[in-house]
This record gives sequence, C-alpha cells and structure tokens, in this order.
Amino acid sequence: MSRGGQNRTHGTVEYCDRLDSFRDAAQSGRYTAAWSSGNAIVLTVGEDAVWLAYQAGRGAVSEQVALSKLPNHYGGARPFFLCPGCGRRVRFLYLRWGRFRCRHCARLNYRSQQTAHDEFQPYRQAVKLLRQRFGLEDVPCPMDLPHFEPERPHRMREATFFRLKCRLWRLTDQYRHRFITRAKAFLRLK
Ligand SMILES: [Zn+2]
Repeated sequence: MSRGGQNRTHGTVEYCDRLDSFRDAAQSGRYTAAWSSGNAIVLTVGEDAVWLAYQAGRGAVSEQVALSKLPNHYGGARPFFLCPGCGRRVRFLYLRWGRFRCRHCARLNYRSQQTAHDEFQPYRQAVKLLRQRFGLEDVPCPMDLPHFEPERPHRMREATFFRLKCRLWRLTDQYRHRFITRAKAFLRLK
C-alpha cells in the first residue's frame, strides 16, 4: 500500500488509486488492475456484483461490491458501483485506508475545492476583519498578510485595538500554517 496517500489528513481524489466502473466492470470475467503506486487487485466481474481481492497491510481483503446498471443513450447499459460504505451509486471507488469506497466515504475532496475552502478561508476572514473593524479599504494580498501591521483607527480604544490585533494574528497564523501544509503536500509530488 502506498504510504503517502494514507498519511495525509486531507486527501484529494487526484492522489488516490481508483476503480472506474465504466472500464473495470464493463465485462464479466476476471481481471487484474494495477497502479503506478504499486497497488494491484484482482477483480471478478459478474452480472450484479464485482468481487475485489487484494492485500491491505498484512491482511488479505476480499470484498463484494454490488453493481447497478443504468441505460445509456445508445440502447445499452452502463455499470455503476454501489459504494459498500454508504450505498451511493458511483462511477469511481477510491482506495483509502485499505478499502475501496466512494469519495464521500473516503473523505476525499477535489483539489480545487480543498484549496478554496481550507487554505484561503482564514485569509478571507482576516480581510473581513480588516474591512469591517479596522475600516481599511486597501487590504493586503494573501502573500502580504503575514507581514501586515494595521494602524489603530482614530476613535478605537487601545484595549479594543489590541483584542482585534490578536484576532488578526490568529487568523494570520492559521492562514500561514495551512499555506505551508499545502505547499509541502504539493512539493512531495515533484
Ligand atoms: Zn460511500
């Protein structure tokens, strides 16, 4: 099993080995699927289900995944997996934590979603704080936020100013931490 994928706390679908029902469950028979990570599994495809057999850590896993067929535009039918974790009808199952599951069960995001949601959220909160409480119109860009020192607005008391600055520092720390975590994850791929 690949270690890299399992150690990351926030997985993204782009980094995970997956099965594609359109490709891997299209015809009955026995197949081997292998990935560049070194993972490989044996699939036995039947009419209504696929049996997966593979090694996870020291144990052998054998799991049955039900198939659901939907008609396509050309009078045929396309197979979909029913996720063994939640029953959702899905085209892709991802290998995570030693099991093949849909991206919801495997807690996987798309990289674009994760970047927008996790990484820049503290930055956006900091910008909101600077606009609403510090009365700033020109807010720092993301790269400048860690070095930014706001001035005390004229009518704001020292104590309030200090409290708001602490809040800003916390958001800045969160933003910097997430940015570095993201950068590290990205560089490991290169
Ligand atoms: Zn699921």
